[in-house]
Amino acid sequence: MMTDVFPGQSSASALPKKESAASVMIQSIVAHLYEQQLGNLEGSVADYIPELGKISPDQFGIAVALESGELITAGDAANEFTIQSISKALTLAILLDLVGRGETYRAVGVQPSGDPFNSITLDPRTNRPFNPMVNAGAIAIAGRLRETLGPSAFEQVLTRMSQAAGRELRVDQTVFESERETGHRNRAIGHLLRAAEVFTVPVDEVLDLYFRQCSVLVTATDLAIIGATLGNIGTNPISGKEVFGIHTVRETLSVMFTCGMYDGAGDWACQVGLPAKSGVGGGIMGVVNRQLGIGVLSPRLDAAGNSVRGKLCCIGLAEELGLHAFDSTNSGSNFLRGMTEFDQL
Ligand code: GLN
Repeated sequence: MMTDVFPGQSSASALPKKESAASVMIQSIVAHLYEQQLGNLEGSVADYIPELGKISPDQFGIAVALESGELITAGDAANEFTIQSISKALTLAILLDLVGRGETYRAVGVQPSGDPFNSITLDPRTNRPFNPMVNAGAIAIAGRLRETLGPSAFEQVLTRMSQAAGRELRVDQTVFESERETGHRNRAIGHLLRAAEVFTVPVDEVLDLYFRQCSVLVTATDLAIIGATLGNIGTNPISGKEVFGIHTVRETLSVMFTCGMYDGAGDWACQVGLPAKSGVGGGIMGVVNRQLGIGVLSPRLDAAGNSVRGKLCCIGLAEELGLHAFDSTNSGSNFLRGMTEFDQL
């Protein structure tokens, strides 16, 4: 059954036989970044969700998934951790695919807020959350998904997330229950949104969906593959399955670029220059459009709630490969093309 739903599950057999020149080069850059950052213990683990405070802070994994389906990994790239806010990019994509832009943006805007992720604020001009990447926006999206999909909303969300990762994902029940018990701020946001009639279904059902989507277990490799799926116009490059529609991908990457790193978004845009999304579980997912996906796990976070080593690895990869969207040469855009030509010599 698994093979039918997730043809990419046996990814080893789907991988190209010959390692490309791009893959060899990225492997050495990833290995170098891993060694360089291994001893960096700055930042602290999020412990406002009690179960998250118990995860090992030293975990460190990097993964890159290429459009060709090749995977490059270092360190703890196979360790599972909760996806947390990275799920917000995926639920946005799922709602966009289901109901389109017009309906989606009746519930939430696309303006960077400059506020922390858990801010209890609505855009005063619209009485809607600023964007889908802060908690308020993601809870609004969860509300619309719950309304549109009914009681099986979470199962459907999990299936789409699994298709993007190319394997069957599952929930960390302990983290889910821990956040459900202690997520009072998110509950307050839920009630505020219900009062503003952003959704009409019961707040508890919406929060149940939101807490569950945040508690889905992924690895850095999964994040790289999900990122590569977004980068590959919505088609998982390993399984070949189309997961997200073309318009959805453009929209989602734009919102990730402007709002994905919360109050660290402007700094990220300048330093990394790629659409990305972070989560308080220590994950960061980055996307290089039409080229590759990046996944990093390192649970120590900076003041904006973004993984310290994860950010530094993304800066390093962007610099080494010229991936910044506005790099003067933007050699990133030509990088794989150049390497493909090299392979064909
Ligand atoms: N589940 C977390 C919360 O709502 C997600 C936050 C995050 O990853 N930034 O607080």
